[in-house]
Amino acid sequence: MGSVLYVLGIESTAHTFGCGVATSDGRVISNAKAEYTPKAGGIHPREASQHHASAAASTVSNALSAAGLTISQIDAVAFSTGPGLGPCLRTGATVARMLSLLSGKPLIPVNHCIAHIEVGRMCTGEEDPLVVYVSGGNTLVSAYSDGRYRIFGETLDVALGNCLDTFARALGLPHPGVPKLEVLADGGRSFIPLPYIVKGQDMSYSGLLTDAIRRSKDHDRSDLSLSLLEVAYGMLAEVAERALAHTEKPALLLTGGVARSRRLQRIMDAVCRDHGARFSVVPPDLAGDNGGMIAWTGYLAWREGITVDVEESYVKPKWRLDEVDVPWRRG
Ligand code: AMP
Ligand code: MG
Repeated sequence: MGSVLYVLGIESTAHTFGCGVATSDGRVISNAKAEYTPKAGGIHPREASQHHASAAASTVSNALSAAGLTISQIDAVAFSTGPGLGPCLRTGATVARMLSLLSGKPLIPVNHCIAHIEVGRMCTGEEDPLVVYVSGGNTLVSAYSDGRYRIFGETLDVALGNCLDTFARALGLPHPGVPKLEVLADGGRSFIPLPYIVKGQDMSYSGLLTDAIRRSKDHDRSDLSLSLLEVAYGMLAEVAERALAHTEKPALLLTGGVARSRRLQRIMDAVCRDHGARFSVVPPDLAGDNGGMIAWTGYLAWREGITVDVEESYVKPKWRLDEVDVPWRRG
């Protein structure tokens, strides 16, 4: 065996600028991040990208020093190429190109959604799970089949995390909204019917969000939070359960920022028990957007010869997970 290789990963799809280092023997050895918090409302893409530009140098240097490495000891540089907000992606890509040119090491494009899956597989040891990936910007039920991660259900409009965060903001709760809604929901006593919308294998959260906000004027906040979470998570559980029955995967992996929800974990665990599948969840420190997951997935891709020339390293704001070949899953 040769010596251990080090890959540095840059994440910048939305609110987080992250830089992490992963090793070829399957560890994330450092994971530095800086989070943009909007002054009001949701993410403003240009403000977020300006935040990332000013946080980049210190975040990269924190990640390198926590790993005990200098840039010349890095073997490759990976970056989150998409999907995400264009201005944010371009800032991260610029940093990654510069580090690649500076160190003379290859540049590796990484799909952000696949990185959430791969870091979950790495940490839990699940080889071939059905994946439920839930975050501020994405809601996907996916499983590997024949060279790619296939989609077995997704949101038709807003993401689960975005739906819940927007509702929390309407109640005047600060970001991140999901954990605050969960605390409120613990005090809920009665269920308020809200629009439950599953179309085929896809979910729609925007009507649910609009109705929940409308009802917040004349309903108890705890009851409404409880009802919103029950409906939103219930829709996801229905889709995940059908996907599990269809694919017959031996396990379900919950990943992404909202995977930290204990309530959602309990629901998915119950789905798994009904189907004789194992339930696993990504560790909390690797659940949200981070550079370590990009570094690890970059290593998997690089091992298969996947790199990109700096001149060709365009970002892909709408890069779907099922458009990406994942040769490291073959065999
Ligand atoms: P990501 O986009 O992957 O970084 O995830 C962000 C989402 O995770 C937002 O919707 C947050 O509200 C949500 N989130 C943050 N902390 C928690 C938590 N402790 N439990 C559940 N969701 C959380
Ligand atoms: Mg994410």
